Amino acid sequence: MAYDPNNIFARILRGEIPNRTVYDDDFALAFHDINPQAPIHVLVIPKGAYTDLADFGARATPDELAGFFRAVAAVAAQLGIVEPGFRALCNTGSDAHQEVPHFHVHLFAGAPLGPMLAR
Ligand code: 5GP
Repeated sequence: MAYDPNNIFARILRGEIPNRTVYDDDFALAFHDINPQAPIHVLVIPKGAYTDLADFGARATPDELAGFFRAVAAVAAQLGIVEPGFRALCNTGSDAHQEVPHFHVHLFAGAPLGPMLAR
């Protein structure tokens, strides 16, 4: 899938749409999800133009890969959710119901999160 430069997270990165930022560095931006599915629901997105986890893993530079996942860890530490724990989730493609075609990691926390998948 070609990257759509007008997707909602690209527009957030360009400052065209407001967000509740929790973390910002050269590699990643983290902000609260507009429709939280847990007491804490934060999205971490890379600064680069990648459609999903598969695209990011295949094309990102070593610096982007390291910088992004360091940022995910920093966000979790900053939110204070490393203990008692959190869930990180990347919806990828239509079967996973990915809505926004810019790679993002959901961080869910703040309560027991139940089983990993709906049945
Ligand atoms: P996906 O289904 O693509 O993994 O998740 C996309 C997430 O982006 C959803 O949880 C949705 O609530 C969130 N979202 C969509 N539009 C916006 C927005 O404009 N601002 C913020 N903060 N979150 C958004």
